[in-house]
Amino acid sequence: MIPIDLHVHSAYSDGVLSPEALCALALKQRIYTLALCDHDTVDGLAPMAEAAQRCNRPLHRLTVIPALELSTGPDGRTHILGYGVNPAHPALLAALQALREKRRARSGQMVEALRKLGFTIPPDWLPADSERMPVGRPHVARALVRLGAVNTVQQAFDRYLAEGKPAYVPLAHMTATEAVKRLRLAGAIPALAHPMRAGLEPQALEALVAALQNAGLAGLEVYHPSASRRAIRQLDAMARRRGLLVTGGSDFHGDAGERGKLGGLPPGWHAWQADLAALNAAVRAAAEAGKNGAPAGE
Ligand code: AMP
Ligand code: ZN
Repeated sequence: MIPIDLHVHSAYSDGVLSPEALCALALKQRIYTLALCDHDTVDGLAPMAEAAQRCNRPLHRLTVIPALELSTGPDGRTHILGYGVNPAHPALLAALQALREKRRARSGQMVEALRKLGFTIPPDWLPADSERMPVGRPHVARALVRLGAVNTVQQAFDRYLAEGKPAYVPLAHMTATEAVKRLRLAGAIPALAHPMRAGLEPQALEALVAALQNAGLAGLEVYHPSASRRAIRQLDAMARRRGLLVTGGSDFHGDAGERGKLGGLPPGWHAWQADLAALNAAVRAAAEAGKNGAPAGE
């Protein structure tokens, strides 16, 4: 197994595990580099760095790349990862606060739609108003499981929460180009997450990547469980041809028995060591440029 995972979520957004539990699991699975990519928040990054410090052992040093994941586009399906983000960047923090408020309002609308369908989710089963956590559909899906309305989180999406299903409520998102630019300004290296999830034909995907690259996109998440072997070959070739960084991650959320497992990357990432080194070098260069007052790539 490849000992890195560059896309994991914690309970600071819609994941289940605390930073401590994520680090302990990484240790158990002999993973030595994790990127924490919580949705729309950087609040978990400091606790994650501290947890990694605490779990380090002489023969196992866990490195955590600070990151986040922004949902973009009209349907929110195009996700942009920002590796090496500066978690204290004022403009980014203001944008994330606004996103969290939109998520709160939308969570209330989903609860109301489900109530009309006959499922009453007790308010204290979702993150409380006082919490800063960005409320997402996975929180609502887990509440439906707890209620006994469905057996699994996946079933909750398939029946009620996925696009076109009766309790689906869209969220107004920034454009992908805007996300790439905002991330650059916050010192991050932007990468297009799980490109196959955008649901585009090859030519349209190439055009999206080209447009985003013009705005400052630097990487492509080629090795993600959503991509078939064939798609991975094409994405890998596209990334290298375009001079983009190649990344990979499981998108682990911590739900028992569902979706990605920590470190669960699709096979075939032979160049992972060189690709990780290139990503780390880009992150370092962006941090240096930030210290000198200019975001890298601007
Ligand atoms: P949200 O940002 O609140 O719209 O939730 C998006 C998250 O829900 C994604 O990052 C996935 O983790 C999960 N998700 C979205 N669509 C599905 C689906 N069809 N099946 C399972 N999980 C999904
Ligand atoms: Zn995503």
